[in-house]
Amino acid sequence: MITRFAPSPTGPLHLGHAYSALFAHDMARAAGGTFLLRIEDIDQSRARPEWESQIYDDLAWLGLTWPTPVMRQSDRLPAYAAALDTLWARGLLYPCTCNRRDILAAASAPQEGAAMGPDGIIYPGTCRVQSRTGPRPLDTALRLDMNKALQAVDTETFYGAGNQHMTDNIGDVVLSRRDMGTSYHLSVVIDDAAQQITDVVRGADLREATPIHVLLQHLLQLPTPTYHHHRLIRDDAGKRLAKRDDARAIATYREGGATPADIRQLVGLPLHLAK
Ligand code: GLU
Repeated sequence: MITRFAPSPTGPLHLGHAYSALFAHDMARAAGGTFLLRIEDIDQSRARPEWESQIYDDLAWLGLTWPTPVMRQSDRLPAYAAALDTLWARGLLYPCTCNRRDILAAASAPQEGAAMGPDGIIYPGTCRVQSRTGPRPLDTALRLDMNKALQAVDTETFYGAGNQHMTDNIGDVVLSRRDMGTSYHLSVVIDDAAQQITDVVRGADLREATPIHVLLQHLLQLPTPTYHHHRLIRDDAGKRLAKRDDARAIATYREGGATPADIRQLVGLPLHLAK
Protein backbone atom coordinates (compact mmCIF):
# COMPACT_ATOMS: atom_id res chain seq x y z
CA MET A 1 0.00 0.00 0.00
CA ILE A 2 1.21 3.50 -0.83
CA THR A 3 -0.75 6.49 0.49
CA ARG A 4 0.01 10.18 0.24
CA PHE A 5 -0.73 13.59 1.69
CA ALA A 6 -0.68 16.32 -0.96
CA PRO A 7 -1.01 19.81 0.54
CA SER A 8 -0.70 23.12 -1.30
CA PRO A 9 1.78 25.53 0.35
CA THR A 10 -0.66 28.44 0.27
CA GLY A 11 -1.33 28.84 3.99
CA PRO A 12 -0.97 27.13 7.36
CA LEU A 13 -2.08 23.51 7.78
CA HIS A 14 -5.06 23.27 10.11
CA LEU A 15 -6.79 20.47 12.03
CA GLY A 16 -8.47 19.20 8.86
CA HIS A 17 -5.07 18.73 7.20
CA ALA A 18 -3.74 17.05 10.34
CA TYR A 19 -6.62 14.59 10.21
CA SER A 20 -6.06 13.84 6.53
CA ALA A 21 -2.29 13.41 6.89
CA LEU A 22 -2.53 11.25 10.04
CA PHE A 23 -5.29 9.15 8.46
CA ALA A 24 -3.22 8.46 5.31
CA HIS A 25 -0.08 7.84 7.39
CA ASP A 26 -1.74 5.45 9.87
CA MET A 27 -3.43 3.54 7.05
CA ALA A 28 -0.12 2.92 5.27
CA ARG A 29 1.72 2.04 8.49
CA ALA A 30 -0.99 -0.39 9.63
CA ALA A 31 -0.65 -2.22 6.30
CA GLY A 32 3.16 -2.19 6.37
CA GLY A 33 3.10 0.21 3.42
CA THR A 34 4.55 3.61 2.59
CA PHE A 35 3.29 7.13 3.27
CA LEU A 36 4.42 9.80 0.79
CA LEU A 37 4.28 13.57 0.86
CA ARG A 38 3.73 15.66 -2.28
CA ILE A 39 3.80 19.45 -2.48
CA GLU A 40 1.05 20.72 -4.80
CA ASP A 41 2.54 24.08 -5.76
CA ILE A 42 1.32 24.57 -9.35
CA ASP A 43 -0.28 27.88 -8.40
CA GLN A 44 2.95 29.85 -8.20
CA SER A 45 1.02 33.07 -7.56
CA ARG A 46 -0.12 31.67 -4.20
CA ALA A 47 2.57 29.15 -3.18
CA ARG A 48 5.20 30.43 -0.70
CA PRO A 49 8.45 28.74 0.44
CA GLU A 50 7.68 29.64 4.06
CA TRP A 51 4.40 27.74 3.93
CA GLU A 52 6.22 24.76 2.46
CA SER A 53 8.77 24.77 5.32
CA GLN A 54 5.96 25.03 7.83
CA ILE A 55 4.29 21.97 6.25
CA TYR A 56 7.45 19.94 6.90
CA ASP A 57 7.70 21.28 10.47
CA ASP A 58 4.04 20.65 11.31
CA LEU A 59 4.01 17.12 9.92
CA ALA A 60 7.29 16.18 11.61
CA TRP A 61 5.95 17.57 14.89
CA LEU A 62 2.85 15.37 14.49
CA GLY A 63 5.21 12.39 14.36
CA LEU A 64 4.98 11.64 10.65
CA THR A 65 7.89 10.49 8.52
CA TRP A 66 8.12 10.17 4.75
CA PRO A 67 10.78 9.32 2.17
CA THR A 68 12.74 12.17 0.59
CA PRO A 69 13.17 13.86 -1.82
CA VAL A 70 9.56 15.02 -1.76
CA MET A 71 7.81 15.37 -5.12
CA ARG A 72 6.97 18.99 -5.93
CA GLN A 73 4.51 19.68 -8.72
CA SER A 74 6.41 22.76 -9.89
CA ASP A 75 9.17 20.34 -11.02
CA ARG A 76 6.73 18.24 -13.02
CA LEU A 77 5.58 20.56 -15.82
CA PRO A 78 7.12 18.44 -18.63
CA ALA A 79 5.08 15.41 -17.49
CA TYR A 80 1.88 17.48 -17.54
CA ALA A 81 2.75 18.92 -20.98
CA ALA A 82 3.22 15.41 -22.37
CA ALA A 83 -0.23 14.36 -21.14
CA LEU A 84 -1.80 17.53 -22.59
CA ASP A 85 -0.11 16.80 -25.93
CA THR A 86 -1.64 13.32 -25.96
CA LEU A 87 -5.13 14.59 -25.20
CA TRP A 88 -4.77 17.47 -27.68
CA ALA A 89 -3.66 15.10 -30.46
CA ARG A 90 -6.82 13.07 -29.84
CA GLY A 91 -9.04 16.15 -30.23
CA LEU A 92 -10.27 15.97 -26.64
CA LEU A 93 -9.16 19.49 -25.61
CA TYR A 94 -10.10 22.93 -26.85
CA PRO A 95 -8.75 26.39 -26.07
CA CYS A 96 -10.94 28.60 -23.90
CA THR A 97 -10.60 32.36 -23.64
CA CYS A 98 -13.61 33.01 -21.38
CA ASN A 99 -13.13 34.86 -18.14
CA ARG A 100 -15.29 34.40 -15.05
CA ARG A 101 -17.72 37.11 -16.08
CA ASP A 102 -18.21 35.62 -19.58
CA ILE A 103 -18.95 32.23 -18.04
CA LEU A 104 -21.43 33.61 -15.54
CA ALA A 105 -23.22 35.64 -18.21
CA ALA A 106 -23.47 32.66 -20.60
CA ALA A 107 -24.41 30.15 -17.92
CA SER A 108 -27.18 31.99 -16.07
CA ALA A 109 -30.64 31.70 -17.49
CA PRO A 110 -32.55 34.74 -16.19
CA GLN A 111 -34.57 32.90 -13.55
CA GLU A 112 -32.47 29.89 -12.80
CA GLY A 113 -28.95 31.03 -11.99
CA ALA A 114 -25.89 28.97 -12.93
CA ALA A 115 -25.48 25.30 -12.06
CA MET A 116 -22.47 24.53 -9.89
CA GLY A 117 -19.97 21.69 -10.37
CA PRO A 118 -16.81 20.69 -8.51
CA ASP A 119 -14.90 23.67 -9.99
CA GLY A 120 -17.67 26.25 -9.61
CA ILE A 121 -20.06 27.22 -12.39
CA ILE A 122 -20.50 24.45 -14.97
CA TYR A 123 -18.96 25.73 -18.19
CA PRO A 124 -21.66 26.54 -20.76
CA GLY A 125 -19.48 25.45 -23.71
CA THR A 126 -18.99 28.82 -25.41
CA CYS A 127 -15.49 28.00 -26.75
CA ARG A 128 -16.23 24.38 -27.69
CA VAL A 129 -16.36 25.47 -31.36
CA GLN A 130 -12.76 26.72 -31.35
CA SER A 131 -10.26 25.02 -33.62
CA ARG A 132 -8.53 21.89 -32.35
CA THR A 133 -6.06 21.54 -35.20
CA GLY A 134 -2.41 22.58 -35.34
CA PRO A 135 0.01 22.67 -32.44
CA ARG A 136 -1.38 22.77 -28.90
CA PRO A 137 -1.93 26.43 -27.90
CA LEU A 138 0.25 27.38 -24.94
CA ASP A 139 -1.19 30.80 -24.13
CA THR A 140 -4.81 29.97 -23.27
CA ALA A 141 -6.68 27.67 -20.93
CA LEU A 142 -7.50 24.22 -22.31
CA ARG A 143 -10.75 22.48 -21.46
CA LEU A 144 -11.62 18.80 -21.67
CA ASP A 145 -14.53 18.16 -24.06
CA MET A 146 -16.48 15.99 -21.62
CA ASN A 147 -18.79 14.49 -24.23
CA LYS A 148 -15.93 13.48 -26.50
CA ALA A 149 -13.88 12.23 -23.57
CA LEU A 150 -16.71 9.97 -22.42
CA GLN A 151 -17.06 8.63 -25.96
CA ALA A 152 -13.32 7.95 -26.12
CA VAL A 153 -13.29 5.51 -23.20
CA ASP A 154 -15.36 2.41 -22.68
CA THR A 155 -17.61 4.37 -20.38
CA GLU A 156 -20.42 1.83 -20.18
CA THR A 157 -18.12 -0.32 -18.09
CA PHE A 158 -17.20 2.44 -15.68
CA TYR A 159 -20.06 4.88 -15.57
CA GLY A 160 -23.04 3.44 -17.38
CA ALA A 161 -25.93 5.76 -16.63
CA GLY A 162 -23.44 8.09 -14.99
CA ASN A 163 -22.42 9.67 -18.32
CA GLN A 164 -25.30 12.10 -18.19
CA HIS A 165 -24.19 13.01 -14.68
CA MET A 166 -20.70 13.80 -15.97
CA THR A 167 -21.90 16.17 -18.70
CA ASP A 168 -24.67 17.78 -16.62
CA ASN A 169 -22.95 18.11 -13.24
CA ILE A 170 -19.26 18.39 -14.09
CA GLY A 171 -18.97 19.55 -17.70
CA ASP A 172 -15.88 20.70 -19.62
CA VAL A 173 -13.32 21.09 -16.83
CA VAL A 174 -10.09 23.06 -17.29
CA LEU A 175 -7.06 20.77 -17.67
CA SER A 176 -4.55 23.52 -18.33
CA ARG A 177 -4.86 26.98 -16.81
CA ARG A 178 -3.48 29.96 -18.61
CA ASP A 179 -0.05 30.83 -17.10
CA MET A 180 0.05 27.52 -15.24
CA GLY A 181 0.48 24.87 -17.94
CA THR A 182 -1.64 22.40 -15.97
CA SER A 183 -4.53 22.21 -13.51
CA TYR A 184 -5.27 20.51 -10.20
CA HIS A 185 -7.16 17.64 -11.91
CA LEU A 186 -4.45 16.85 -14.44
CA SER A 187 -1.51 17.12 -12.03
CA VAL A 188 -3.07 15.06 -9.28
CA VAL A 189 -3.85 12.20 -11.68
CA ILE A 190 -0.40 12.17 -13.32
CA ASP A 191 1.41 12.37 -9.98
CA ASP A 192 -0.67 9.76 -8.16
CA ALA A 193 0.25 7.41 -11.01
CA ALA A 194 3.93 8.46 -11.03
CA GLN A 195 4.17 7.86 -7.29
CA GLN A 196 2.30 4.54 -7.64
CA ILE A 197 -0.28 5.57 -5.07
CA THR A 198 -2.57 2.61 -4.32
CA ASP A 199 -4.89 4.40 -1.89
CA VAL A 200 -5.86 8.06 -2.10
CA VAL A 201 -7.05 9.36 1.26
CA ARG A 202 -8.65 12.81 1.13
CA GLY A 203 -11.59 14.83 2.39
CA ALA A 204 -15.21 14.39 1.32
CA ASP A 205 -14.98 17.87 -0.26
CA LEU A 206 -13.08 16.23 -3.14
CA ARG A 207 -15.58 13.40 -3.67
CA GLU A 208 -17.15 15.21 -6.64
CA ALA A 209 -13.75 15.55 -8.32
CA THR A 210 -13.01 11.82 -8.20
CA PRO A 211 -15.05 10.85 -11.31
CA ILE A 212 -12.99 13.42 -13.28
CA HIS A 213 -9.81 11.77 -12.04
CA VAL A 214 -11.02 8.27 -12.90
CA LEU A 215 -11.99 9.43 -16.39
CA LEU A 216 -8.53 10.98 -16.91
CA GLN A 217 -6.92 7.73 -15.77
CA HIS A 218 -8.84 5.86 -18.46
CA LEU A 219 -7.98 8.44 -21.11
CA LEU A 220 -4.28 8.36 -20.22
CA GLN A 221 -4.16 4.62 -19.52
CA LEU A 222 -3.13 5.05 -15.90
CA PRO A 223 -4.18 2.79 -13.02
CA THR A 224 -7.06 3.86 -10.78
CA PRO A 225 -6.20 3.82 -7.08
CA THR A 226 -8.74 3.06 -4.36
CA TYR A 227 -10.31 6.31 -3.14
CA HIS A 228 -11.16 6.89 0.52
CA HIS A 229 -13.03 10.12 1.27
CA HIS A 230 -12.96 10.96 4.95
CA ARG A 231 -15.32 13.20 6.92
CA LEU A 232 -14.43 16.88 7.18
CA ILE A 233 -13.28 18.47 10.41
CA ARG A 234 -15.61 21.37 11.24
CA ASP A 235 -15.43 24.33 13.55
CA ASP A 236 -17.80 24.82 16.50
CA ALA A 237 -20.35 26.45 14.20
CA GLY A 238 -20.29 23.39 11.92
CA LYS A 239 -18.40 25.08 9.08
CA ARG A 240 -15.52 23.28 7.41
CA LEU A 241 -12.13 24.73 8.20
CA ALA A 242 -10.47 27.11 5.75
CA LYS A 243 -6.82 27.98 5.27
CA ARG A 244 -7.36 31.41 6.78
CA ASP A 245 -8.75 29.93 10.01
CA ASP A 246 -5.59 30.57 11.98
CA ALA A 247 -7.19 29.59 15.28
CA ARG A 248 -7.20 25.99 14.09
CA ALA A 249 -3.76 26.05 12.52
CA ILE A 250 -1.55 23.22 13.75
CA ALA A 251 1.13 25.83 14.50
CA THR A 252 -1.27 27.72 16.78
CA TYR A 253 -1.98 24.58 18.82
CA ARG A 254 1.72 23.78 18.93
CA GLU A 255 2.63 27.25 20.16
CA GLY A 256 -0.16 27.05 22.72
CA GLY A 257 1.46 23.99 24.31
CA ALA A 258 -0.67 21.22 22.79
CA THR A 259 0.96 17.84 22.15
CA PRO A 260 0.62 15.72 19.00
CA ALA A 261 -1.53 13.35 21.08
CA ASP A 262 -3.88 16.26 21.82
CA ILE A 263 -4.26 16.84 18.06
CA ARG A 264 -5.07 13.16 17.48
CA GLN A 265 -7.68 13.36 20.21
CA LEU A 266 -9.17 16.59 18.82
CA VAL A 267 -9.73 15.02 15.38
CA GLY A 268 -10.91 11.72 16.83
CA LEU A 269 -8.06 9.43 15.78
CA PRO A 270 -6.59 6.62 17.91
CA LEU A 271 -3.60 7.80 19.91
CA HIS A 272 -1.35 4.90 19.12
CA LEU A 273 -0.42 3.97 15.62
CA ALA A 274 1.40 0.89 14.40
CA LYS A 275 5.05 1.80 13.87
N1 GLU B 1 -3.72 19.69 -2.95
C1 GLU B 1 -5.08 19.46 -2.61
C2 GLU B 1 -5.46 20.33 -1.43
O1 GLU B 1 -4.63 20.99 -0.86
C3 GLU B 1 -5.37 18.01 -2.24
C4 GLU B 1 -5.26 17.11 -3.40
C5 GLU B 1 -5.81 15.71 -3.20
O2 GLU B 1 -5.75 15.17 -2.08
O3 GLU B 1 -6.24 15.14 -4.18
O4 GLU B 1 -6.61 20.38 -1.06
